[in-house]
Amino acid sequence: MKSISMPLWPEGRPFAVTFSYDDGRDHDRRLVEIFNRSGLKGTFNLNGSRIGKEGVVTEAEVKSLYTGHEVAAHFLTHPFPSRIPRERLVVEVMEDRKRLESLTGGVVDGLAYPFGDWNAEVIQGLQACGIRYARTTVATNGFACKPADWLAWHPTCHDRAVTPALMENFFTVRGWDTSARLFYIWGHSYEFDREGGWESIEGICRTLRERGGEKLWAATNGMVRDYMAATQSLRFGADGQAVVNPSALDVWIVVDGATVRVPAGKTAAL
Ligand SMILES: [Zn+2]
Repeated sequence: MKSISMPLWPEGRPFAVTFSYDDGRDHDRRLVEIFNRSGLKGTFNLNGSRIGKEGVVTEAEVKSLYTGHEVAAHFLTHPFPSRIPRERLVVEVMEDRKRLESLTGGVVDGLAYPFGDWNAEVIQGLQACGIRYARTTVATNGFACKPADWLAWHPTCHDRAVTPALMENFFTVRGWDTSARLFYIWGHSYEFDREGGWESIEGICRTLRERGGEKLWAATNGMVRDYMAATQSLRFGADGQAVVNPSALDVWIVVDGATVRVPAGKTAAL
């Protein structure tokens, strides 16, 4: 009987990092530049009604600024999601999606909760709006990527809580732990104007790059969601001799200790 464990990140990498930044303030420009220089990727959660207002990114720059990253929804006007009528919630989310999609030319179906505010009823509303993941502000301080509900996807922590010890813990793989590890950091780019803020995010990016090297996958939230959906779509034979990957993404798994690529749309012998 083969031992099968899954998944690894693309190209068989054991580590992944993703960032999620809210509100679309013009400080995003400097943050995007840092991510680009570091070869890292972020998801930027925007309020459609605020774009173009003072201190916020402009309509004209949304598409180019966030190229190579992801634009996601953050409700049209930044309300407390649990305090508005459900009819209002649907309008807030769908109008935000439409506005962001018209600016980016893509599909915007990821989201971060304004004020980190959500409950079961809000989740039901998001399901009706076609949202495929929603980030909370609940820190796990961990690196597993298996949310019980993708509409309550908890990050590792806020960027201020990234300590050298946590970073060390991320890159320390114990022998029994072969699971793919995700460092999921969220925050607000305008908070980096505090004393030492920009230096701190630069340091986080540098450390991730230097320590992660080729073993680190830099992904947007949406890319992580897509990849996990692909891994969850794998169908294994009862005897473990073959696996079907019906998705459009290659998936990497570990079979008897060796890294195996399961090509997109193919059946692979194990
Ligand atoms: Zn916000």
